[in-house]
Order: sequence, then structure tokens, then C-alpha cells
Amino acid sequence: MERNLTAAEAAVLEVLLLNASSDQETEPTAELRNQWVAQIPNLQVVHECGCGACPTIDFTDPKAKFNHRIVLSAFDDTQGAGILVFIDDNQLSCLEVYPSANEAAELPAVENISF
Ligand SMILES: [Zn+2]
Repeated sequence: MERNLTAAEAAVLEVLLLNASSDQETEPTAELRNQWVAQIPNLQVVHECGCGACPTIDFTDPKAKFNHRIVLSAFDDTQGAGILVFIDDNQLSCLEVYPSANEAAELPAVENISF
């Protein structure tokens, strides 16, 4: 069942897209980052992780094939969680929050995110 993003999810996504470091040799340009942010209003959540321990959401079919993936990463030290945004072929595909300990992770508050 597709749903819209919550305001909190959209805020976390925007902060990462504008500020987080990527796994690429060169960091994304401001123009590219702004293109990604512009996708947010049109995103639909098509899949939720469902493990019960994380708020990870997908915007595209998790099994979909892609040619080029960019990963942006950040941290929420207050709950010991990592945050990743996946961009596949220039399309936002996933917001992943993973606990670093054996505890459940929640969607970070924007003010707790560090880069
Ligand atoms: Zn999960």
C-alpha cells in the first residue's frame, strides 16, 4: 500500500540530501543536491522494512535494477543509529535507518543528525 511521506521523514531526507557526504569520489554538486530535494514532494513510500527495529522506507521497488547508485550517510549519535539515503540512477530510492547496537532505531530528529 503506497502512502505519502510523513513531514518528519521528508525533513530527514532533505537534511541528508543537502548535507551528507556520499560514497563517490567527488561530492555531489549543489545543483544535483537541489534536484534530489525537488523529488521529495512527489515521493511515495512503496515499501516499509517491517523488521520492527527500524523505520527504513523505500520509494521504489527494492528489487528494481539500477545502473548507478549513490549513497549518502549520516549519524544520530543520540540513539547510536546510522542513516543512509540511496539514489539509484538519480532517483531517490530508499531512506534507511539502522541501529548500531541490538536496539531498535527510530526516525532521527533533524537536530540530532550529524555528518
Ligand atoms: Zn527494518
